[in-house]
Amino acid sequence: MPKALETVLEIDLKSLEHNYRFLRSKLNPGTKFLSVVKAFAYGSDADQIALKLQELGTDYFAVAYVKEGVALRKAGITKPILVLHPQPVNLEILIEFQLEPSMYSFGILNQFTALLNRKEINRYPVHIKFNTGLNRLGFAEKDVESLLELLENKDTLKIVSLFSHLAATEDPKEEAFTRKQIAKFEKISVEVTNRLKIQPIRHILNTSGILNYQEAQYDMVRSGIGLYGYGNEARYDAELKPIATLKTIISQIHHLSPSDTVGYNRAYVSRSSRVSATLPIGHADGIGRQYGKGKTFVLVNGKMAPIIGNVCMDMIMIDITDIPSKEGDEVILYGPELSAHEVAKTANTISYELITGISQRVRRIYSS
Ligand SMILES: *Cc1c(COP(=O)(O)O)cnc(C)c1O
Repeated sequence: MPKALETVLEIDLKSLEHNYRFLRSKLNPGTKFLSVVKAFAYGSDADQIALKLQELGTDYFAVAYVKEGVALRKAGITKPILVLHPQPVNLEILIEFQLEPSMYSFGILNQFTALLNRKEINRYPVHIKFNTGLNRLGFAEKDVESLLELLENKDTLKIVSLFSHLAATEDPKEEAFTRKQIAKFEKISVEVTNRLKIQPIRHILNTSGILNYQEAQYDMVRSGIGLYGYGNEARYDAELKPIATLKTIISQIHHLSPSDTVGYNRAYVSRSSRVSATLPIGHADGIGRQYGKGKTFVLVNGKMAPIIGNVCMDMIMIDITDIPSKEGDEVILYGPELSAHEVAKTANTISYELITGISQRVRRIYSS
């Protein structure tokens, strides 16, 4: 990659390939792989990432909302796309673009069935979501009987898969809870397949599930964060490669005298003679105010420089007093050399939030 000349998110498609192969290597050869590319492929670029994953042989894609699925179809994705959280208002478009909805409640199920009946469409592929303890989306165990009554002897819907989502696969302290969720899913899914005499794909594992609960891989797994290079645990982070590097450059350098202040609200006060640098990236690009006031570091010529004062909309200031550097030098906010996981921790958040927050103002560039 050539040196950055402005703020860019550099995406390495070779690292994506490495992560995909690493995660696949944890699975039985017959297990299908669903790539989660919601939220612009976790803040990178859904089109380019999905095209690469399609080429690598992923079996399925998932997005959160219909609009994201439409964008993938327009980009040339032909593999099946599961929409995890479709809203009733978008169901017509979902059909138009052959997206496959998650049926997570009686409300969405009844509205979708009614729409298909009006359109005289039969055997439309859908995925039934069960709530096994996350209490976010899905049919509860107590709903199963009424659900089966709605589904039995009807062919409006083709049930492609049954699935659930785990609450704490990255947390060894929650292993007992995770096992309870898996057992509940097993029980519900056996009941449903027996009653409806179908053999749908079953899936429950996310990235940390693939790494920690391989015995529950069923017929398919769903991975997001692992593809982008983060494993939620140091031992897996070591094997995965962050695909994105957020880079910027030094726009201007200032020499501060004692008691000079930097930025809005004069939030940084210089205690001695210091050197600050201004970077062309701010909260409108996804580096929120929680990263300011000395808590978070960036990398300048391989050395750690703290973000000082308040993060502005379009800029941040850093302290480079002890770092030989000049205007135009490259600065890394996260990437393989500075884990987004560690950066996020300085602001009491997680890598998922930091990386999905990088706004569309930041140019994406690729290496492969
Ligand atoms: C986002 C999401 C995933 C991906 O989880 P990762 O931890 O990023 O692998 C899987 N399943 C569902 C239902 C999701 O919403």
